[in-house]
Amino acid sequence: MAARSAAPAAPSPMMAQYLSLKDEAGEDALLFFRMGDFFELFFGDAVRAAEALDIALTKRGQHAGEDIPMCGVPVHSAESYLARLIAKGFRVAIADQTEDPAEAKKRGSKSVVRREIVRVVTPGTLTEEALLDARRSNYLAALAEAGGATALAWTDMSTGAFRTMPLAAEEVPAQLARLAPAELLIAEDREGPERWSLTPLPRAHFDSARGEAALKDRFRLGSLDALGDFTRAEIAAAGALLSYVDATQFEAGVRLGAPERELPGAHMAIDAATRDSLEIARTQKGERRGSLLACLDETKTAAGARLLSEDISAPLTDAREIARRLDLVAAFEAGPSVRDRLREMLKGVPDLERALGRLSAGRGSPRDLGLLRDGLGAAEEIKARLAAAKLLGPPPILAELLELIGPNGELLAALSDALVPEPGISANEGGFIAEGYDAALDEHRSLARDARQHIAALEARYREATGVKALRIKHNNVLGYFIEVGANHADALMTSDSGFAHRQTLASAVRFNSEELAGLAMRITQAQSRALAMEAEHFQRLRAAVIDHGPVIENTAAALARLDVAASHAGLAATRGWTRPVVDDSDRFVIEGGRHPVVESAMDGGSFVANDCDLTRAQHVWLVTGPNMAGKSTFLRQNALLAILAQAGCFVPAARAEIGIVDRLFSRVGASDNLAEGRSTFMVEMVETAAILRQATNRSLIILDEVGRGTSTYDGLAIAWAVLEAVHDELESRCLFASHYHELTGLAERLKRLELATVRVREWKGDLVFLHEVIRGAADKSYGLAVARLAGLPAHTVSRAGEVLDRLEERRAETGGIAAGLADLPLFSASAPPVADAPDALRERLDAVAADDLSPRAALDLIYELKRLAAET
Ligand code: ADP
Ligand code: MG
Repeated sequence: MAARSAAPAAPSPMMAQYLSLKDEAGEDALLFFRMGDFFELFFGDAVRAAEALDIALTKRGQHAGEDIPMCGVPVHSAESYLARLIAKGFRVAIADQTEDPAEAKKRGSKSVVRREIVRVVTPGTLTEEALLDARRSNYLAALAEAGGATALAWTDMSTGAFRTMPLAAEEVPAQLARLAPAELLIAEDREGPERWSLTPLPRAHFDSARGEAALKDRFRLGSLDALGDFTRAEIAAAGALLSYVDATQFEAGVRLGAPERELPGAHMAIDAATRDSLEIARTQKGERRGSLLACLDETKTAAGARLLSEDISAPLTDAREIARRLDLVAAFEAGPSVRDRLREMLKGVPDLERALGRLSAGRGSPRDLGLLRDGLGAAEEIKARLAAAKLLGPPPILAELLELIGPNGELLAALSDALVPEPGISANEGGFIAEGYDAALDEHRSLARDARQHIAALEARYREATGVKALRIKHNNVLGYFIEVGANHADALMTSDSGFAHRQTLASAVRFNSEELAGLAMRITQAQSRALAMEAEHFQRLRAAVIDHGPVIENTAAALARLDVAASHAGLAATRGWTRPVVDDSDRFVIEGGRHPVVESAMDGGSFVANDCDLTRAQHVWLVTGPNMAGKSTFLRQNALLAILAQAGCFVPAARAEIGIVDRLFSRVGASDNLAEGRSTFMVEMVETAAILRQATNRSLIILDEVGRGTSTYDGLAIAWAVLEAVHDELESRCLFASHYHELTGLAERLKRLELATVRVREWKGDLVFLHEVIRGAADKSYGLAVARLAGLPAHTVSRAGEVLDRLEERRAETGGIAAGLADLPLFSASAPPVADAPDALRERLDAVAADDLSPRAALDLIYELKRLAAET
């Protein structure tokens, strides 16, 4: 036998269990180790979590001769700590106790309760209400390559949505920008796109044969053909997703719908830079407030808000599909009373999809059953109301949506009969099954209740018998029921023939038991635990019924969400005068009286100036010139936003809009005023512009705002010139191009389909007045100096700039073009630059005078001194 003292003590059985679970969880996940009412963390995990959560770091025992750092969070409030850890980028493995501690004791006094990792919590695999934003989807995505092709698969585990898309590698960033996944799975040997939270997995997880087997198994299919014509890459991506769901959820029955295919062409392609610049679902700061979505969203339900966000993030390209959505909005616009009534009813509709998701994943509660009852009840009512409503020429889509709702009657009746009005959040604590639902359950409950009355009677009887008025029968979790008297009365009860058995002596009280009380207590406990067990059974049965009914609940939820979105749009038509756009397969782009929805709503009823735009064939490129602050950028963006809104099936802020389907939308803003990190902003700008010139088609819409601003004047002008030419000659895309280089207007002569537009300003008493009105024609000059004056540049600087400008213009007239370099231009010798004001000694001396402190004599001296100073300068 080895000498014991030489080797460090072997870890305790519990520590050994911890270490093996930690090994399983891996280095990159924190291990939450369940110990009674706490999740404890040890070693490095404890140090990291204590810091991240700002909770106390303590120690517990030793390992290999060192103290073991420890921290912990209470189980009942674990969700809020999880939320914070996930938000900080951690993953958390949950090791729960998977047997009753009593069972472990039976195996021997030293044996440890069995614990297992039951789940790994990661950003993309959340289902809990507290960890999710109700109004936003939470996607887990997987990016795979197979056979030289690329594909994405994604799911929102909280609702069960599951999609795949085959796409070209260069389209991946745009799709990811649309989905904004909370977590992206990639093969570990592949370089992942920046910007997203990446989880690398072994390449084997992306094997398409393995993926095929996983899909068949999960959806119980003999062949995948039933689901659609998936590419190998799609199957690989979907397979990786499924294996990750299994690896993080273990036994939980997370509900996923069968994967649906989406093809890239089904939606307007909008790349990440365009999304950023147009602030569609989020502003450039990453906030929802201030985005197009926020300005638009008047939905009443969380599911409606999520659907609207999806619609806006992925506008359609199928004119028929768009018309269907618009038909529904139009119907609600025409029927204000139906709309208002619908919106009123939608207010009370809870989040059916997510309640279903939680119940399926085994994380649901009686409260979720109650939400389903309320939601399905409201859905039936909405269906009945809308079916009976008198809408002018109700569109076919309305009937189709109503058809999707239900039949929910049977489940609804089961839930309504079984549940109390407001079921609680714990299935183990009971109290959620209504009185009168189950006779056996009621009997046990009344037994428990009666026994409590018996206890009250017993208490009265004991008081009488003992003469101790302060005698009480109490209950606590350790002793159960007991009889308590003050220490001074204890003697009377201590005698052997009293019928009381001593249990505990405290400083001021003594506690007893009696046979009768023990008998009653036993009846209560038994009745209670029978009742709880019966309620738990009911919970499981109702949960199973809900899951069986899952597909219908999903359809019902989808229909309600679509109604919610359409009613929200129709409300905008009524309150803000938005109109139905005409969207077709033409090459038209005609806007009359268009407004920028976000700028307009920020002006709070102010006077936003509406503007027209026509990019139809013969004038498909507009060059918009005009001084800074005139309204060029606003005009450009508003037209891009109108295209997005129209194709998302929304009404638009314009008097009239006719839009031929836009297949791709590009928006770029010259970079000089937003200093991006790392790469030169001009470089970024050029890379992005190059991408447009490569990808745009004759059906695309391009917004170029001050391209070329990020470099020196003549370089910038030259680049802007060349890009404009390329868009006009080679792409035939519809394009709005804003520039303060009014020299560009010279291009109009050569580019036949280039239209000149400018934003009107008026100079009034030397000041600029912005009229925000877009008119045909070129800006007569750049007004740069007027803007500079407006911005508060000192007068002498503005006038010096005026001199320089005159020189430049003279020179241009001489050479007949703008190509002349500046090098030989005698700019800075033309007139002496105004000297910076020399420090004024007289003034400085005067400033230093404290007049109140001067004696008459000192004042006289000062006057002499000042006169001398004046003579010197
Ligand atoms: P530019 O790109 O020409 O420098 P912007 O489009 O940035 O000008 O507009 C400057 C400001 O003018 C905006 O912040 C907005 O407040 C206001 N503005 C722009 N367009 C309009 C309009 N059509 N009606 C009212 N105000 C407008
Ligand atoms: Mg601008």
